[in-house]
Amino acid sequence: MKRLLCLAAAAALCASARAADDAALVKEALATINAQDVMECVEYLTADACAGRDTGQPGLTLACEYVAGRFQECGLEPLGSAGTFLAEYALTVMDAAEETSLIVAGARDGDMDCVLREQFIPAARSAAGVAEGEVVFAGYGIKERKFRWDSYKKIDARGKVVLVLTREPRADRDNPRFFEGLEMSAVSSLREKARVASEQGAVGLLISAATDEESAVWLKSQFPRHAGGGRRRGGQELALPAALVTPDVGERIAGRPLLELRDEIDEKQSPQSFAVPQVRVRLEVSLAEKGLSAANVVARYRGSDADLVGAAVVVGAHLDHIGVDDRGRIYRGADDNAAGVAALLEVAEAYATSKPPTRRSVIFVAFTGEEKGLLGAYAYVHEPPVPITQTYAMINMDIISRGRKNAIEATPPPKASFLDQLLKKAVALSDCELKVGDGGKEFFQQSDHYAFHEAGVPTLFLNEGDDPEDLHTWRDTADKVLDEKVARVARLAFALSYMAANSDLKGGLR
Ligand SMILES: [Zn+2]
Repeated sequence: MKRLLCLAAAAALCASARAADDAALVKEALATINAQDVMECVEYLTADACAGRDTGQPGLTLACEYVAGRFQECGLEPLGSAGTFLAEYALTVMDAAEETSLIVAGARDGDMDCVLREQFIPAARSAAGVAEGEVVFAGYGIKERKFRWDSYKKIDARGKVVLVLTREPRADRDNPRFFEGLEMSAVSSLREKARVASEQGAVGLLISAATDEESAVWLKSQFPRHAGGGRRRGGQELALPAALVTPDVGERIAGRPLLELRDEIDEKQSPQSFAVPQVRVRLEVSLAEKGLSAANVVARYRGSDADLVGAAVVVGAHLDHIGVDDRGRIYRGADDNAAGVAALLEVAEAYATSKPPTRRSVIFVAFTGEEKGLLGAYAYVHEPPVPITQTYAMINMDIISRGRKNAIEATPPPKASFLDQLLKKAVALSDCELKVGDGGKEFFQQSDHYAFHEAGVPTLFLNEGDDPEDLHTWRDTADKVLDEKVARVARLAFALSYMAANSDLKGGLR
């Protein structure tokens, strides 16, 4: 009896020592989460190179590689296809077909057969077909009485292929009386330039940025694009076959550097258009649907309870955004949802660095295709790395970095789950200094957790609650991100996922 008591006391002592150890590790993990790391990630994902992270396009591939690299660095287990962090899924896109070509003849430096994607690409909404003819250079390609500007005044565009610059005169100057100041006006859109060119009798349109940096963004943001179109890109095709060309090709056609021509127009504040009768262009645009693979980025922090091997808590945030619009403006999606991904990476690193033991595993997912209709989340649910029946809970972060400094919504599903019981304790454990509400219900169907909810997994959706300012505009930029707030939300998500991964509460499928 005495001995038994001793053993029990020793076990209790042992358990409390272990609990103290765990508490120290949790504290350490929470302390690794910081605002500076958050901003580093947000800056990367919102840079020009990621070109607005549109699903199917190279800018998002780059962002996926960045996240995979970060998972790798902190030593998490890859849970994607073929031992990588990238879990591929099929996507149907529109893309330029083989027949698409651009030939320039009669240029001073000789003829050229341009290389698709490197030297030219059809505009996202180009009409299909062939455009062939002599060339006129029509400056910015703008004809607008309101701005007293007519690029076509002194040239005859009938039957010609027109070469124009992207953007509008003096686009970088903050003069509200000239065009619309820094705000790129509607006349600078490809749609408008194509409409005006067609109205002037042109048969085809070539558009070029004046600098290589700007040109790179245009060239990688047109194709491929999701066949469903997405939320923002809708609308009809352009009035004629149209393609973006590099400044180099533009110079070969016009006979002068485009930057020089642009500066001349801006300086003189007049169009400076001219004919280039010796140069002939043949543009053929052919578009086709094709299959492509997109990918979520998935990593695991392994649980340590033998009985719960294979069970997991998922923490997610979507990585994709909506790309570049037809005025060439990058939609950087800092709040939607570069900041959410930054928080996700902070949570993942906190686990990987401090290694607090968890009974269940924690799976981190940067979803893609969210803006196209939760494509990545549905792909995950259809082919999950651990069975959905073993997925104990899903915590999603989307739009968490602006608005009220000290508040966030943790939107529960219509029928509350055990996660609600954990939430209060998680707030205390994380010491996150956030007022946590349960608003945001009107957005419940609009982000990745919804796919898990439909599959029966208890979810919690961390978000801003209100209709966020600058959502899906070019103004959603990194400088507006409240970095300390993002770090706080990450601490809350860490604590909540940690408690769920260790919980005895009845969770699992509803
Ligand atoms: Zn979003």
